[in-house]
Amino acid sequence: MIKFASFSSGSNGNCYLLSNENTAFLIDAGIGERTLKKRLAEIGLTLDNLAFILVTHDHIDHIKHLGSLASRNKISVLATPAVHESLRYHPCTAGMLKGLICEIFPGEIHNRQGVEITPFNVPHDATETVGYHINFFGERFTIITDVGSVTDDIVKYSRMATHLVIEANYDKQMLSDGEYPSYLKKRISGGNGHLSNDETAKALERICHPGLKNIFMCHLSEKNNDPGLAYKTVYDYLSRSGIEIGKHLNLDCLPRRSTFSIEI
Ligand SMILES: [Zn+2]
Ligand SMILES: [Zn+2]
Repeated sequence: MIKFASFSSGSNGNCYLLSNENTAFLIDAGIGERTLKKRLAEIGLTLDNLAFILVTHDHIDHIKHLGSLASRNKISVLATPAVHESLRYHPCTAGMLKGLICEIFPGEIHNRQGVEITPFNVPHDATETVGYHINFFGERFTIITDVGSVTDDIVKYSRMATHLVIEANYDKQMLSDGEYPSYLKKRISGGNGHLSNDETAKALERICHPGLKNIFMCHLSEKNNDPGLAYKTVYDYLSRSGIEIGKHLNLDCLPRRSTFSIEI
């Protein structure tokens, strides 16, 4: 039985999990060990089950607890060379990942315990940011959190997925009407910031294919988005393209602060 879980999603911290009977691993480590233990227990796992951690990029909401979690529990950390170089000096990880570093390369398949992992570059304003395409014992997951614009590579790897996690960060109107300072509004809506609900919906029109079973929208902004609105935006776009949510595929918004899990 394959499990996908989201333990936390958004600027408050990001942490996702894939597991089966033999292995389990995290994508990003933006939540503390105590919270993680609780979240793992909710789905019948412990820290001992974790074989490795994939890192998408070096923003604090993705790596805040990476150093302590990996070093205390001796968990390997898989990231690109540029991200590892940045983690060497980052206050959350400096001096903590010795002996746990595993370099992986964009566009190249890395096989770890039978899991095929392919990182690919995505545009975002961190040192280097990757999405992951993961062949997890026949179920294909593509995970794209934090991305400013949709590239051909993103569409390519997403179209290979049977389960897609993709950012829907903000509603354009809510961001523009909201209280954020204008430099931050520019950063978020720029090509190296985050995706709006409309941008995600438009991308999904290109991405959807008959083999896609689940779309999980992640990293929703607390101030500039609303799960109902994100869901409706994507639902409406896809309906207009003849794709019926609930019939052809499932659509969910991942909660910011609680566990969402699904057995596949
Ligand atoms: Zn983030
Ligand atoms: Zn980021």
